[in-house]
Amino acid sequence: MPLHHDRLGPEARSFLRNDLDMLIDGKWVPARSGKVFDTYDPGTGRVIARVAEGDAADVDLAVKAARRAFEEGPWSRMSPSDRGRAIWKLADLIEQNADEFAELEVLNNGKPLSIARNSDVAMSADMFRYMAGWATKISGETLSISTPGNYHCFTVREPIGVVGQIIPWNAPLVMLAWKVAPALAAGCTIVLKPAEQTPVTALRFGRLIEEAGIPAGVVNIVTGFGPTAGAAIAAHEGIDKVAFTGSSEIGRIIVKAAAGNLKKVSLELGGKSPAIVFPDADLSVAVPGVAQGIFANSGQVCTAGSRLFAHKRVFDRVVEGIAERAGSIRVGHGFSEGVQMGPVISPVQHDRVMDYIRQGQAAGASVAAGGTRIGNEGNFIAPTILTGTTPDMAVVREEIFGPVLCAMSFDDDDLDRIAKQANDSAFGLAGSVWTRDVSIAHKMVRRIRAGRIGVNTHGSTDAAIPTGGFKQSGWGREKGHEGLNLYTETKSVIMAL
Ligand code: ADP
Repeated sequence: MPLHHDRLGPEARSFLRNDLDMLIDGKWVPARSGKVFDTYDPGTGRVIARVAEGDAADVDLAVKAARRAFEEGPWSRMSPSDRGRAIWKLADLIEQNADEFAELEVLNNGKPLSIARNSDVAMSADMFRYMAGWATKISGETLSISTPGNYHCFTVREPIGVVGQIIPWNAPLVMLAWKVAPALAAGCTIVLKPAEQTPVTALRFGRLIEEAGIPAGVVNIVTGFGPTAGAAIAAHEGIDKVAFTGSSEIGRIIVKAAAGNLKKVSLELGGKSPAIVFPDADLSVAVPGVAQGIFANSGQVCTAGSRLFAHKRVFDRVVEGIAERAGSIRVGHGFSEGVQMGPVISPVQHDRVMDYIRQGQAAGASVAAGGTRIGNEGNFIAPTILTGTTPDMAVVREEIFGPVLCAMSFDDDDLDRIAKQANDSAFGLAGSVWTRDVSIAHKMVRRIRAGRIGVNTHGSTDAAIPTGGFKQSGWGREKGHEGLNLYTETKSVIMAL
């Protein structure tokens, strides 16, 4: 079978030379079953590597290793400062190998090289650095109680224990960083499962663990499929908490599987985020901002602004502006010079997105830009705008996870009614408001039921900013101090004096 590595530097090429094993208890091992699966370049559809296909047996070994590392140390006995230093080292190591990480991410995920290098890899390193700082700042409170003379009461925050982490394919290294960095800062041990579509950078990251001085068993990486390896993590009785990012559909399955031992669950799920453009908005900011909000990463972003609501007075100008940008976005293989948008992740995802576009048209929507596949090789879809969409259509209600914007107008000055339209969704992950009026901005921020709101921007992925959802978009917040708290338990201590 030909493995296509021609665009890679020598390091990345050498990494992919052999089949990729999993990291369990500090050792690189094949699956117990001996099985392997192919992983692909979504820009060509060609196989780029063979990866160990872990399942319940491998998850079990990984959980045992993580449990031992948690109970017996030295990780759990390490000083917070030493733990922080090791996490900081991971950031340095990611940066030292940034070109290789970026190339591997492009090859396996499809995104443009400059974005992988300057955004994904940089952001991942930054997340480790941010969380490294928190390792020394985890503390409880001294409590004022009603009988102060008789009792001394305080809280301590302790690591939650062994955590299972299941991540998606849209930003493989970033999603890893958002999960692994806070768990390490809190002192947890980890069984991580990357998405079956994109295991490569997670395994490359695994090579950094020992180099950073993190003991065996603290980070275990099991590659494999959702219904086997993923399900085994969600259900495992030896896991104290599972953190999941992916579709709301699988989120529900995770919650049910986790019910066995009532492990803690945090979920970052789907979205259908509104971008609301008021008539006074600076369109030279709003138009590129809304376009970026939906077309970045080929629309494969949970916080993507996939529903545009623009005031009737500016609707045509906004849609024309976004359509013009959509038409000029250079779509192509992530390694091609000047490319701004890559393919969607897989043929399955390609067909799903194209089905939505067809379905929207059949329901009465019109295509104002894109709407077509690009080329014969790889999973490329043109940046697409659907107009004439209505709130009852599946394209407006369901998460497409592709470069498809549903454009709608409003002709109203009543903010409650505008917000009601924007909030008419099962999801509540993000949203953006575009206006020059500070008062409208603040009022809309209060009215939108979502975990992250941008004003004259669709948002930011900074490590300090909590991200997560209202409603069916999830449980808990990742990143920021709240993201750290997902990995600690509060213990109250009551001392009778
Ligand atoms: P998508 O539909 O966008 O591929 P998913 O929600 O299916 O996203 O996948 C996100 C992650 O969840 C992946 O790592 C995948 O392997 C995992 N996963 C899929 N199905 C299950 C399952 N039944 N139990 C646990 N994890 C799963």
